[in-house]
Amino acid sequence: MSRPIRARIDLAAIRHNYGIAKMRAARSGGAARVWAVVKADAYGHGLMRVAKSLADVADGFALLETDTAVALRDAGIRQPILLLEGFFDQHELAVCAERGLTPAVHRLEQLRMIRDAALPARLPIYLKLNTGMNRLGFRPEEIPAVRRELAETAPCLASVTLMAHFATADGERGVEWQLECFRQMSAGWNLPASLANSAAILRYPHTAGDWARSGIILYGASPFADESAASFGLRPAMTLTSRILGVQEIGPGERVGYGGIAEASRPMRIGIVACGYGDGYPRHAPNGTPILVAGTRTVTAGRVSMDMLTCDLTDLPAAGVGSEVVLWGEGLAVDEVAAAAGTIGYEPLCALARRVPVVETGGGGTENEV
Ligand SMILES: *Cc1c(COP(=O)(O)O)cnc(C)c1O
Repeated sequence: MSRPIRARIDLAAIRHNYGIAKMRAARSGGAARVWAVVKADAYGHGLMRVAKSLADVADGFALLETDTAVALRDAGIRQPILLLEGFFDQHELAVCAERGLTPAVHRLEQLRMIRDAALPARLPIYLKLNTGMNRLGFRPEEIPAVRRELAETAPCLASVTLMAHFATADGERGVEWQLECFRQMSAGWNLPASLANSAAILRYPHTAGDWARSGIILYGASPFADESAASFGLRPAMTLTSRILGVQEIGPGERVGYGGIAEASRPMRIGIVACGYGDGYPRHAPNGTPILVAGTRTVTAGRVSMDMLTCDLTDLPAAGVGSEVVLWGEGLAVDEVAAAAGTIGYEPLCALARRVPVVETGGGGTENEV
């Protein structure tokens, strides 16, 4: 028997969730194509397996690195591939043109670089407008200069799509303040637009426009602190499971683990789980973080260590060594665990460690350990 931790990746759930993103985006009345955002190794789910599972349905794939995009092309992915942060170096431009990649452009100098590159083919680009996020993109006062540069660069370009990113689609401020800025910046420019992330696809589907960008919802987690993924019909794509490998019976006043942050107020049974921060479980998860043992909800007790964490089995007399534990996924939303640890579902998903063996399900065949 090997160390029992596994990440089960449900490819059917990912396809189902992509379908939900498409259905929501279709309400915009636009072309409603949806980028499958697969950056960060598909949010920890494995780039190649996610890309292959969506290969016959996704309108396109969005990620960060040119190398990773080329790997997708080499694996036979034919759809458009968007480089969300654009190109970092002039040398990447030839690769973009040869392999049909769509870089974001967020600085004027990059338009000049495209003109100077003598590319073998015209380049599709996403022109990034800064509508208030204040990370990447052109500010409103730069638009006249952008239009001049763009006119000069036109012979090198296959297409231009305007792109902006919402800062508060998941919160009270909403998207209207940025949409208004976008309308002003793009006035008279009859170009396709790509604005919506997962939160906007769900809450403001009218912003999905020509090309929405769906990340977290593909993986069945929620972009919202106050609305669950399940309430949108999303299914968790990753279930992190392990087993109890030891049990300690402790008396009142005894403490558990590093720092002794959990103290027994009564006789307690503590289950030791083969999962720690070295597997990607958040170390900041405090006492009381939800966890499933043998299908029943209980809580963690004691500090998360590198290879183990500890949970309260006092009221689960049937649970013991060998009992199955679900850290997150089916039966326990990753968003709940993340919230207890003071973070969002995105972070533990992306943090899944390489040492965790992955099992694929929902791929049409039997379960495969890969
Ligand atoms: C990561 C990313 C997305 C996807 O965000 P989600 O909240 O996961 O849907 C969309 N657009 C850009 C520019 C991104 O970097």
